[in-house]
Amino acid sequence: MKKMLNGTRDLQLFEVLESEVRSYCRSFPTKFQKATGYQLWDSNGNGYIDFFAGAGALNYGHNEPQMKQKLIDYIMRDGVAHSLDMATEAKERFLSEFNEIILKPRNMTYKVMFPGPTGTNAVESALKLARKVTGRQTVMSFTNAFHGMTLGALAVTGNKFKRAGAGVPLNHSISMPYDGYMGKEIDTLKFIENYLQDSGSGVSLPAAIIVETVQGEGGINVASSEWLKGLERLCKAYGMLLIVDDVQMGCGRTGTFFSFERSGIQPDIICMSKSIGGYGLPMAITLMKPEHDQWSPGEHNGTFRGNNLAFITATEALRYWKTSQFAADIAVKADKVKRSLQRIISNYPELNGEHRGLGLMQGIALEEGVAEQISQLAFEKGLIMETSGTNSEVIKVMPPLTIDMEGLETGLQLLEQCMNDIKLEARAPIANV
Ligand SMILES: *Cc1c(COP(=O)(O)O)cnc(C)c1O
Repeated sequence: MKKMLNGTRDLQLFEVLESEVRSYCRSFPTKFQKATGYQLWDSNGNGYIDFFAGAGALNYGHNEPQMKQKLIDYIMRDGVAHSLDMATEAKERFLSEFNEIILKPRNMTYKVMFPGPTGTNAVESALKLARKVTGRQTVMSFTNAFHGMTLGALAVTGNKFKRAGAGVPLNHSISMPYDGYMGKEIDTLKFIENYLQDSGSGVSLPAAIIVETVQGEGGINVASSEWLKGLERLCKAYGMLLIVDDVQMGCGRTGTFFSFERSGIQPDIICMSKSIGGYGLPMAITLMKPEHDQWSPGEHNGTFRGNNLAFITATEALRYWKTSQFAADIAVKADKVKRSLQRIISNYPELNGEHRGLGLMQGIALEEGVAEQISQLAFEKGLIMETSGTNSEVIKVMPPLTIDMEGLETGLQLLEQCMNDIKLEARAPIANV
């Protein structure tokens, strides 16, 4: 099969000059140079299969040729690159195509806000708007949720380590158990509703509920459609807005453009970023039902809300959604991943793996420490694969949606080899404890 990686990996400059806060370059310690589709190459010429896809920012792969061409053409004709939030032709085309290709066919009527270029910008704008619209302060979020690194988004994020980074109290939020958090038998919706309806619960009515339909960073936990519908019902009953954070699960990651399509819910506010720009360029949007668009002009402002280069590639990316073919292709690949992961799990029963996820957001939950070991082994074999979960206990298979069957097969075979290596290691006699 594949040989081990060549060359020395001199990352000293990064160690000297770049802050200790750097993270992914520690998991994948090499210097990358080039990328196309689902592949990356480092300075030593080693090739890697990308099962990480920019944490969901590269759903259409690296340097997608048609987006690249549109971008080059736009730059060469001196198309406006930065425009604050002034009206530009590039933005007009994006808004119009997004409406025609995405919203209208799904019977969705939403206003589009450009909140600043990152996912956490979209989340902050959603939280602010929900508070403004309802006049309430608290936002309900969930165990193991991930919504971003700025203070508002951190306040609705579950991870203790990330929260501690705030350095100030994170408040005006309340964390409730996600679907399945208290075991399969317990319906956490009932639990939540008890709090909302009981005047002795100590919980004031929230402005909104913010939810990921699948928790990507939190360990690939999938909320059932019934549970999501139940949340929508609770929101209507108690006058709360339903915010879906589709920053990572949107743009086809779970098989449909919006991750909540399988449940039929119509969120009040939707946050998107990561792959909305199509090419890996920074861009985010916040969608809101028109009746909630109660902003005053400039009330939520920002310098980088007009990244026209991203509008160009974002518009081009929408062509994937003009027919149902792309979703059908994702379903075929998702099925292959599912069957492969289930087979791998049953081939290595001693590793106690548990299948998680749907669409091209799947993984295997393992005992603590094992997933991280697998991620490291995979890197040495030329496969980029991250872990997720509070204790990094889940190995995350998240290739670009455009990956071909051959790339998928090769990556999955490398994953299986890693499982085998771990098994052999576990069997080897321990020399000194
Ligand atoms: C990545 C992510 C964010 C934050 O996006 P940034 O661009 O990193 O600020 C928010 N929510 C979810 C669900 C994410 O996956």
